[in-house]
Amino acid sequence: IKATVMEGVNVEQDSVQSPEASAAKTALEKLQNDRKTLPIYPYREQLLQAVNDHQVIVIVGETGSGKTTQIPQYLHEAGYSERGKIGCTQPRRVAAMSVAARVSQELGVKLGHEVGYSIRFEDCTSEKTVLKYMTDGMLLREFLGEPDLASYSVIMVDEAHERTLSTDVLFGLVKDITRFRPDLKLLISSATLDAEKFSDYFDSAPIFKIPGRRFPVDIHYTKAPEADYLDAAIVTALQIHVTQPPGDGDILVFFTGQEEIETAEETLKHRTRGLGTKIAELIICPIYANLPTELQAKIFEPTPEGARKVVLATNIAETSLTIDGIKYVIDPGFSKMKSYNPRTGMESLLVTPISKASANQRAGRSGRTGPGQCFRLYTAYNFYHDLEDNTVPEIQRTNLANVVLMLKSLGINDLLNFDFMDPPPSEALLKALELLYALSALNKHGELTKIGRRMSEFPLDPMLSKMIVASEKYTCSDEIISIAAMLSVGNSIFYRPKDKQVHADNARLNFHMGNVGDHIALLKVFSSWKETNFSTQWCYENYIQVRSMKRARDIRDQLEGLLERVEIELSSNMNDFDAIKKAITSGFFPHSAKIQKNGSYRTVKHPQTVHIHPSSGLAQVLPRWVVYHELVLTTKEYMRQVTELKPEWLVEIAPHFYQMKDVEDAGAKKMPRGEGRALKD
Ligand code: ADP
Ligand code: MG
Repeated sequence: IKATVMEGVNVEQDSVQSPEASAAKTALEKLQNDRKTLPIYPYREQLLQAVNDHQVIVIVGETGSGKTTQIPQYLHEAGYSERGKIGCTQPRRVAAMSVAARVSQELGVKLGHEVGYSIRFEDCTSEKTVLKYMTDGMLLREFLGEPDLASYSVIMVDEAHERTLSTDVLFGLVKDITRFRPDLKLLISSATLDAEKFSDYFDSAPIFKIPGRRFPVDIHYTKAPEADYLDAAIVTALQIHVTQPPGDGDILVFFTGQEEIETAEETLKHRTRGLGTKIAELIICPIYANLPTELQAKIFEPTPEGARKVVLATNIAETSLTIDGIKYVIDPGFSKMKSYNPRTGMESLLVTPISKASANQRAGRSGRTGPGQCFRLYTAYNFYHDLEDNTVPEIQRTNLANVVLMLKSLGINDLLNFDFMDPPPSEALLKALELLYALSALNKHGELTKIGRRMSEFPLDPMLSKMIVASEKYTCSDEIISIAAMLSVGNSIFYRPKDKQVHADNARLNFHMGNVGDHIALLKVFSSWKETNFSTQWCYENYIQVRSMKRARDIRDQLEGLLERVEIELSSNMNDFDAIKKAITSGFFPHSAKIQKNGSYRTVKHPQTVHIHPSSGLAQVLPRWVVYHELVLTTKEYMRQVTELKPEWLVEIAPHFYQMKDVEDAGAKKMPRGEGRALKD
């Protein structure tokens, strides 16, 4: 069956008011007016009709047309929220928060009341909430408590083209519930035109296209490849700023992550200062996932007259967030992507060339309100010959342990036959099952164990959840949830300003005293802060980022609540570091490594050469055996967050995973038996 394609017909044209009239309006009325200028507005009635007539529809419309902010509101206005919540998923948490904030403004309600959002470790909803924006991962977790999503009348899986792991799994689950919940409406919305695939998957669901307004975009390529794209991007941004009149339009630059953005921000500040007052003001607006909420709103503030805004963004600005007023896009052509080797089970975040589809989305950001310009910092040859057409769906390049544990907890046992839109490599599925078995989350028949059930309550990676569940045995759950919370915050605990690096490093060494390892150092940071009654001053004095600490505290509070839910008592064992390390090892034993003669390490299972990250407290100490939190590949494959371990623990804790022969010190100087005994005596 061929999908029906409904082209919206423009029915209402005269929605733009005279300037005098709108000037007199209140802010709320102005927002209401703005809503009517969005490309989607003329198709409101048709869209509602389509939702009424069909259970599932696929919606396609260019970024900025109003899908995310408007469709849930239209459905709300049409009365769908009387029958249940309207849920809208986003792949990125910043998008969920920012869009919810916008919609609450448009409705004139307080965020968290009628309109709310839910992201991992942060629930900003209430009894009143009827429009709920959330990450796709959070909706997945809701299935655990409510397998038929009974409290929802509509689910909108937004940004479907991003094909995140959680979105792909959601597809399978929501498709299944539409069969026994005929009253549930399902919208799949996407910013790209390959909607046929979504339609096919959802039993030939009709496709609703929102015609976009797109202005022409001039694409410029570099003549030769750029050796340093970060610098090239900064130079290009400054060139535009200096040569083009400021009222002309703002600049959007794509970077791969927070570190790059921070570097770019510093460099830009420095160089514009050097240019003095001769040039117009350049307002620098960074945006990335870990940017504090207060600062996120800045990117949406209108640019004051005579100034220009330059937005330094990760992939988030590709389709998830629309910033008005962008005329210039600078695209270095890279993004950070997860890559996973199912053979070794190793996962890393790599800076990878983007796809043609991504490059075109990025370029499109410059042509929303007028003709745009896109500067690609790579050659035309590169674009046509080297870039893939589309980004590979995450499900095909990631560790699946988390998702497998989730599906098993939902009672879905036959994963090889789960209705995936694009199935993951079976090797990756098996690897995930193997890991969960090693962690004792599954028994040898692949069924969920009690440990597995407890683990699935925690919104964390299975190794972290296992570490927490195992802390019961070592009576150190109090310490372990602090460590888990600190690890979940990411690498933004220690503050290291350029002009005070020595002071910062000294302050940091304090927590590493006794070469306790990075996990315990994190624990010491947390408990010292707690002892000062969470003092901000203390954070300043110790070069600790107070914001990250507050977040760690929030996460820890939630983990404490979850401990109670799985009936693990909060117990403390602060002085027994070995007990704490054993609990860590219980979760992370697959991440063990042993030193080599040259000071590098070799992972024990699936041998691979790795190094201790220079930021680790153990980087100079080089213990014989270590367990690490994660691998990051920069110039080398680095282990980040490292703790020393005793090899015999591996066999004690994971006898099904390690045998004596794995942990015997083959690399150590072997002493003849007699001599060894003689020494002992
Ligand atoms: P789509 O989902 O189709 O990409 P959106 O609904 O996200 O479109 O955006 C519609 C409009 O709302 C855009 O012009 C965008 O700039 C504006 N908008 C969205 N979020 C915010 C926000 N947090 N603050 C200000 N404007 C916003
Ligand atoms: Mg959107």
